[in-house]
Amino acid sequence: MRVLVLSDIHANLAALERVLDDASGAYEEVWCLGDTVGYGPEPDECIARVRQLDALAVVGNHDWAVLRRMDVEDFNPEARRAVVWTRDHIRPENLAWLSELPNQPVVRGQFTLTHGSPRDPVWEYVLYPSVAQASFEHFTSQFCLVGHTHVPAIHVLQGDTSKVRSSALSPGQIISLQNGGRSILNPGSVGQPRDSDPRASYALLDTDALTWEIRRVAYPFEVTQAHMRAARLPERLINRLAYGW
Ligand code: ZN
Repeated sequence: MRVLVLSDIHANLAALERVLDDASGAYEEVWCLGDTVGYGPEPDECIARVRQLDALAVVGNHDWAVLRRMDVEDFNPEARRAVVWTRDHIRPENLAWLSELPNQPVVRGQFTLTHGSPRDPVWEYVLYPSVAQASFEHFTSQFCLVGHTHVPAIHVLQGDTSKVRSSALSPGQIISLQNGGRSILNPGSVGQPRDSDPRASYALLDTDALTWEIRRVAYPFEVTQAHMRAARLPERLINRLAYGW
């Protein structure tokens, strides 16, 4: 089965639509690794798209905060303002959809899906080999898919040493997962990339051929920025979309 793997859409409709156009015809199922809302100006529209796609989804930390299940004081001031704005604007039926998303890892075949890490699904970042190494003890499948860092990456467990090799992933590169050992994979962020590349990031996974491909697509971020300005979301969050940080 071919799977479209999305994460950290962050209420950025222009980015999500561009990704769905680009991936059109290349997948049978959609997996969404959380943070569908937060930061951006289109929470309802993005949730509506994800629901239309009948995606298998988990909850992220921003989703969790919008649901008032964690203290908004844990966020930096701009992120906090965006969470509060989202709480004030999201439609009840979309809040209800968020509230039903699992906050624990979900297993599909050889893949465990989570937002942060399998150890701390909502909050921990798998950014460095040390955290990745600890994470392997917290899931039993061959592969784990995570989001949250907004950086496309792969962390591979080196069988005999239990060391981890972490690599950033470039677009277009098709990674074979056949003989690579247990791995943690991150598709990057659709709506707020943070690796100095402002293009939306997503992954195509083939669960039969066991391949993983990162794709990047330029989208009209000025459209999202204009909507953020109209919504009076923080300037810093508006600016970062143009640079990918
Ligand atoms: Zn995020």
